[in-house]
Amino acid sequence: MSEFISLLDKEFKLYFTAQEIGSKVKSIAQKMNQDLESLDPVFIAVLNGAFFFACDLLKEIHIPFEITFVKVASYDGLQSKGTIKTLMGLDESLKDRNVVVLEDIVDSGFTMKYLIEELQKMEVASVKIASLLVKPSTMKHPLEIHYTGFEVPDVFLVGYGLDYHKKGRNYKNIYILNSE
Ligand code: 5GP
Ligand code: MG
Repeated sequence: MSEFISLLDKEFKLYFTAQEIGSKVKSIAQKMNQDLESLDPVFIAVLNGAFFFACDLLKEIHIPFEITFVKVASYDGLQSKGTIKTLMGLDESLKDRNVVVLEDIVDSGFTMKYLIEELQKMEVASVKIASLLVKPSTMKHPLEIHYTGFEVPDVFLVGYGLDYHKKGRNYKNIYILNSE
């Protein structure tokens, strides 16, 4: 396994291995299997970034559930823009349902805050957030994150669904931007 990858003009260094990610995802799934057993949850995976996380997580969920997808984007290159550019999906009725949002990474928290507000307008019974990665130091909107994979500092990561200018989502490992 190579420790470094190149995407466009940047080099990235191995940060979390596929094995580390896999065991973390399994432990989140085990917790959900207990917590959500009687709730018939609707998982909402946030595209594009969360598709690997959602796919691996949901294979380990053994209670009744439904899955749907939304597309929300607030990122452009290396920086969170703090504005929502697109929202697609969320067209089915989620009234009185217990919803669990699946996200790749929470940075400023703006995307999650926006999505939670939209879900509350739809009169959902409850909303929980599961994010593979969370950057507590950059969060501008206080959020309760019920399931966190890894807390990370203010760094830029790619792989396992996360992109750099649309590239690099396909890597099984997660890599960090090499600042040298
Ligand atoms: P927020 O709205 O919390 O600022 O940003 C959330 C979205 O920005 C995430 O869903 C993700 O798509 C993107 N994002 C945040 N941090 C990173 C990062 O380190 N790497 C990549 N590739 N995307 C990120
Ligand atoms: Mg995302």
